[in-house]
Formats: sequence, structure tokens, C-alpha cells
Amino acid sequence: MKRFFVLLLWACVACAATARGEDGLCGPAEIRPKPAAAPARVRDYAPVFELCVKDGVSRLAIRRMNVDGTPLILTVDPQSLQTSLERAACWRCAETSDAAQAETRYLKTLRPPPDPARPAALVNAGLIHGAGAGAFVTGDLCPSRKRLDRSFFEKLAAQGPRTPVTLAVSGAWLQRHRADFAWLREKERTGALAIVWANHSYTHPYVARLPDSRNYLMRRGVDLDREIFETEKLIIAQGETPSVFFRFPGLVADAELLERVRSRHLAPLGADGWLALGLRPRPGSIVLVHPNGNEPAGLRLFQRLVETGAMPLPLRPINDAP
Ligand SMILES: [Zn+2]
Repeated sequence: MKRFFVLLLWACVACAATARGEDGLCGPAEIRPKPAAAPARVRDYAPVFELCVKDGVSRLAIRRMNVDGTPLILTVDPQSLQTSLERAACWRCAETSDAAQAETRYLKTLRPPPDPARPAALVNAGLIHGAGAGAFVTGDLCPSRKRLDRSFFEKLAAQGPRTPVTLAVSGAWLQRHRADFAWLREKERTGALAIVWANHSYTHPYVARLPDSRNYLMRRGVDLDREIFETEKLIIAQGETPSVFFRFPGLVADAELLERVRSRHLAPLGADGWLALGLRPRPGSIVLVHPNGNEPAGLRLFQRLVETGAMPLPLRPINDAP
């Protein structure tokens, strides 16, 4: 009997070593930012929906691509909603469907049951309030010529190690603010912040004085796939991983747009605490500020709410919200 256990122990040590060895080659792909433009580095980018398995672990792949010559998949953990870029060669994948994955937390996040208490509206669809206590801080990086408000992030980081924050980044902002983006990545690397990257479209269309129904992504001629994928490619080429969340510019979308974003396996992210509009956070609120230099009033309000104890704490990661 004792020999059996010794053999079992030896077998487990051996298999753990093999698994570790494989992880060396098959762990999440790390992409280093380079000066080369995203289109030259991230090629053959395509939406997919596949169930992938490696060493008994299942993930859902939502994109396939080739980065610097290596085929990769963008995967989602169907339970935690955590995304990661993986080497395609390490996973066995087969096409799946929304119906087949309907019982996963991911699909329930994408397609929550209709809430009769919420009127159908153009503005602020999707997830607007999170589960449980605390608050979910989100910052929109709409295109801006102004500098990133770095002091806001310093104050956020003072809340504790790895303070969670979701940044909805537009491709046009990222193109113009490589140094600011690198600065944010450094905050992550040092453990000051834990950033989740949401997609805020590429061009973020907006024309002053146009009604919402003909503005933002509802403008004629907008190519929604391009808005989604080019932003994701930029995030990837800069060494980060897109999350499953999409924030509509202006928080404006109609039913058709919502459906098209969901068909790309992204979850629309609204907010019930846009501070500069006078909305006050309560437990579970998704708080919205603009750290792109365009809305300093919202950042001042954020600071005051934190200092006076009116901000629900703790600050929580957005993947916990649905
Ligand atoms: Zn915006």
C-alpha cells in the first residue's frame, strides 16, 4: 500500500513537472509594444466563437489573429469573464454557439434577462449597475488632445495596492497618447492599479447639435466592425488584452447596435454614476469619469466623494459586476 502511494506521489510530481514545462511554451502570450503600427503586427484578425480546451481547462475563443507571425486566440473564461491571449497551437478548439453556451455566466452577461423596470431608451443600455457593495470605477478615454489626468490615477492608486479601474479606451485616443498608455501600463506592472481595458470604439463619432438618434455610432456610414476590431488590435499591439466590455460613445445605442455588439461577443457597459452629470454613486454603482482631460469637474467630484466617505467602498473589478 505504502509503495502504491509512493508511486502515486512520483506520478503526480512527474505530471506536474510536465504541465509546468508545457506552460512555459503554452502560457498566455506576452506581446511587447513596438513602434510598428498595429496593422503590420496584428494580422488576419477575425471574430470567432469556439470552445477551446487545454489540459482539461475550457475557454471560449472570440477572436483569431496572427501577431508577429504567431497564431493567437483571444479567449474568455466563461465563469470569471477574464480574457487572455493564448497561442492557438496549444488549444484544441471547435466552433460553438450562443445557444450551446447559454448557461455560462459569460452568455448571461451578454444577454441578461429583460428588466421590465427599465424603459427602452437610446441612452445608457447594457450593464448600468453592479452586484453587491462598493463601486466599479470606469474612466472613458474618448479622443482628446489634452494630456491624461495622471494625478487622478495617482489618487486612485493611493486607495490601496492593485486598485481596480476599468478604462474604456478609444483607438483614436490610444494613437495620440502612446506615452500616457505606457505610463498606465507601468502603473499596472508595479501593482499600483489593476486595469481592465474596455473598448470605446475607434473614431468615437460625435457631432455637436445632432440628435442622439443620428449621432455617435448611429451616424450614417459608421463601420461598427472596424470601430471594434481596430481598437482591439491597437490594445493588443500595445501589449494589453481587451476585455469583454464595450462602452458606447455617449452611452448611446439603439436595439440594432446593441445586438450587433453582442454578436461580436462584447457586453455593453453603461453607468449609473456619471459624476459630472450630478449622479451620485450608491452601493453597486458603475461610476463614470473622464480622465482624458475633458471633464475635470467629474474628477474633482470623485476626489471629494472619496475624501468625505460618500464613495461606496471597496472599489471592485468590473468582472465582478454582472
Ligand atoms: Zn466617450
